[in-house]
Amino acid sequence: VVELANRVKALTPSTTLAITAKAKELKEQGEDVIGLGAGEPDFNTPQHILDAALQSMNEGHTKYTPSAGLPALKKAIIKKFETDQELTYKLNEIIVGNGAKHVLYTLFQVLLNDGDEVIIPTPYWVSYPEQVKLAGGIPVYIEGLEQNQFKVTPDQLKRAITKNTKAVIINSPSNPTGVLYTADELFAIGKVCLEENILIVSDEIYEKLVYGENKHISIAQLSPELKEQTIVINGVSKSHSMTGWRIGYAAGNKVIIEAMTNLASHSTSNPTTTAQYAAIAAYNGSQQPVEDMRQAFEERLSIIFDKLVAIPGITCVKPQGAFYLYPNVKKAAELTGYHNVDAFVEALLVDAKVAVIPGSGFGTPDNIRLSYATSLELLEKAVERIHQFVTSKS
Ligand code: PLP
Repeated sequence: VVELANRVKALTPSTTLAITAKAKELKEQGEDVIGLGAGEPDFNTPQHILDAALQSMNEGHTKYTPSAGLPALKKAIIKKFETDQELTYKLNEIIVGNGAKHVLYTLFQVLLNDGDEVIIPTPYWVSYPEQVKLAGGIPVYIEGLEQNQFKVTPDQLKRAITKNTKAVIINSPSNPTGVLYTADELFAIGKVCLEENILIVSDEIYEKLVYGENKHISIAQLSPELKEQTIVINGVSKSHSMTGWRIGYAAGNKVIIEAMTNLASHSTSNPTTTAQYAAIAAYNGSQQPVEDMRQAFEERLSIIFDKLVAIPGITCVKPQGAFYLYPNVKKAAELTGYHNVDAFVEALLVDAKVAVIPGSGFGTPDNIRLSYATSLELLEKAVERIHQFVTSKS
């Protein structure tokens, strides 16, 4: 075969894949494995969204759309920003793409020249560094410390900035930690970005999944200058349980959005037409299903968190959003005789029959990620199994 391009040779394979493949293999052999690896809500897409998609097809809306998305969808997104964040965007400041993931990919492609640096706080969503590298950029990591709830500080950010820094990624609520930045914290980070002229990429895909008294704040809503300095990334995947529909979007400076639209016109043409109609219904219809799902996640979190931290050797920063727990299990691994967390994760799968994702893939190897996007019954069983495993082996 021919030799592959250097850019793909440098890609790091997804660390989640190995464990997911092994879990699948065990399940096929008839093993009763509980998977806590899921990155998607376990609910069906709400019925009125499905109905709208079908209706659009029956009405003949099955052709190409503008590359940046249907004006009606952009208007629905603009209305959403006004309602939720009091942010006002124009039509040419929005691009809809094939999921937030692809929108981010397109953004880095239009933003980065070879050697440009993008600051990524750890732990990070696995695709950020790979997407930056694919665009010729260099990921620069700043360590979100557990004692600071994994949040990075303005000082850390300042120290990481060089003459090559182009952007910083903020993901609040965060995958994998579930941690949410406050308005004050965001403002302080934003101040550094304004002083140094660093673009803020604000990934707000988990915006609707926030618990307790906490409130999601977009860094873009804190001042007109910060709005201008920020590209907001969002989508319907997590909020409306629409992961498979592949609709995400970016909002921000029209020059960047126009460049992204030009690139999309040659790479995707447009996000799937039917999915765009579904997304219009998602935003223009009732938001009650979104709230119902949020409440279900919140209930699971409140029950499962206490059980998790009751396990010897496990500590966990309490998440305020998203649907992940990101406990530190270094001590639990040591107690059970494993010298690193990757080996502990493998043993959890093979012996305790619970599949979790090792933190090594997120840049923090002492942690594991558990998703609570599964039934309470299975969650309780899974945590009980982990507890049993740790106590029986220590
Ligand atoms: N950003 C974060 C932090 C995510 O966790 C995900 C999905 O897992 C995405 C973006 C991408 O979402 P989608 O491409 O489904 O819109």
